[in-house]
Amino acid sequence: MTSELPSIPSGTPEPGLYIVATPIGNLADITLRAIAVLGAAAVIACEDTRVTGKLLKHLGIKAKLQRLDDHAPPQVRARIIDEARVSPVALVSDAGTPLISDPGYRLVREARAAGVNVVAVPGACAAIAGLAIAGLPSDRFLFAGFLSPKDKAREEALAGLAGITATLVFYETAPRLEKSLRAIAALWPAREVAVARELTKLHEECRSGSAADLADHYAAHPPKGEIVLLIGPPAEAEAPALDADALLRAALVDAGPGKAAGIVAKATGIDRAALYARALELKGE
Ligand code: SAM
Repeated sequence: MTSELPSIPSGTPEPGLYIVATPIGNLADITLRAIAVLGAAAVIACEDTRVTGKLLKHLGIKAKLQRLDDHAPPQVRARIIDEARVSPVALVSDAGTPLISDPGYRLVREARAAGVNVVAVPGACAAIAGLAIAGLPSDRFLFAGFLSPKDKAREEALAGLAGITATLVFYETAPRLEKSLRAIAALWPAREVAVARELTKLHEECRSGSAADLADHYAAHPPKGEIVLLIGPPAEAEAPALDADALLRAALVDAGPGKAAGIVAKATGIDRAALYARALELKGE
């Protein structure tokens, strides 16, 4: 192995659409390849030209920026794809990896369908950084984006993930954190939860415990900044809860979700709130 550090690749990259990850806080997390591709790109498609402009200024790169979000008209994507046939074109988001709870899915899909070379330039991603430090099982995980700000939709979304035997990873906002933790505590009082906050930044922290304890902590110390919320997989003991589906289905034939949850809770000793959320979900199927 050579002791020489790699340097920024020189030469112009091949034409294509380069999906370039950018830092999620610490600017030193930009990769050498990202700098080379951004420096060579004929166009950089981005969510917010001011945010990307700042990053480029920091890197000493002057480039043509094209605003692109999920509401951009198809012509904008078509122009970017046409350009990518003949030159390197980059897609970045405000922070982290494009397409991960960020725009770009349509552009990538259409570029691939058009036969354009689509190239990954990987780097920071908050979900992966959170998973890497949370101390929760990382062999199987499910990234589920942002939870809904609405109570009922949030509960239903969580209940729908009850049977997943993997660590669950969400993006969360500081003002909504406590409510989400309370909803998780109601469903899964025994699961280990982690809150990874301000990753790669000055006030980075990762706190784990039960959802109820974390909710109490953040009620007393309102959090600031950006958050990844992680929920450990169900323990073996939680498994019988999955059998409740059959009982709930049977009870739902004659009863509404509330009554059905009550009946099954009495019969099994399973938490009524969890059963109610699951009953709502089963009813919607
Ligand atoms: N595409 C980005 C990525 O790869 O991480 C995520 C974009 S999503 C719109 C923004 C959310 O990511 C934030 O609301 C927060 O939940 C999470 N996030 C971004 N940066 C973070 C950081 N430094 N620490 C913790 N969470 C972060």
